[in-house]
Amino acid sequence: MHQNKKNIVKEIAGERIDLLFGFASKTIGSDREQAGRYVKRMRYLSSHYKVPLPKRIRNGICKHCNEVMVPGLNASVRIVSSKRYVATQCIKCGKEIHVHY
Ligand SMILES: [Zn+2]
Repeated sequence: MHQNKKNIVKEIAGERIDLLFGFASKTIGSDREQAGRYVKRMRYLSSHYKVPLPKRIRNGICKHCNEVMVPGLNASVRIVSSKRYVATQCIKCGKEIHVHY
């Protein structure tokens, strides 16, 4: 029973993380501070409930400055086919995240 309850809590935390990421992506263009608060909240939920951030979300947040990265808005994406990765550059701090494929 206890285990089940735990799973439900994790599930809810996961859903909230998903929602928060959506809010943050929508807000980043108009209110950077608010978007930052969403990211903070997301990270808190993730560590507090031990729910790992899904890859899609991990790759959408700059590891260096915690900014949500939206391609075309505050991030640029290029494909480095010779090395088989997608590079997403955070415009705010200039750092890149490489995702291998
Ligand atoms: Zn950054």
